[in-house]
Amino acid sequence: MPSCELCGKTSEKLTKSKIEGAVLKACDECAKMGEKVKKPRKRTKTRSKSKNRHSRKRKEEVLRPNYGKVVKEAREDKKRSIAEVAKKLKEKESVVKKIEQGSLKPDKTLASKIEKEFNIELYTTPAVNDVSETGGDNRKATLGDVAEIKD
Ligand SMILES: [Zn+2]
Repeated sequence: MPSCELCGKTSEKLTKSKIEGAVLKACDECAKMGEKVKKPRKRTKTRSKSKNRHSRKRKEEVLRPNYGKVVKEAREDKKRSIAEVAKKLKEKESVVKKIEQGSLKPDKTLASKIEKEFNIELYTTPAVNDVSETGGDNRKATLGDVAEIKD
């Protein structure tokens, strides 16, 4: 007669049960306990609360007022045509044009594509924005410098 590896009770039918990380052949009663042990481990989900705080912070980021100029200058710096950029971003040329004219605000998804494409920042937190405004020309920063600012 097999016996439960947890309580030692002999039983006809033993269930393989994961108890505290170990898989044991347990009787019905202990198998139930195994499930109970397992559940509290999933409580690590409470950690997501701190993640929410982070995303809330990101929401404070605002589109810089001169985003159109920033995009246009970055594009001209790289000697790219609107058509090329539109194709790369998988957007219509008219969308890129309107963004450069400042008549269309790119949402964060599109803005981040543009940011990556030209290594510029369109959405900034107000504090960061102040710094770059007084700090002068961001475009002249080296790739390394810009990456550092982003971090
Ligand atoms: Zn048992």
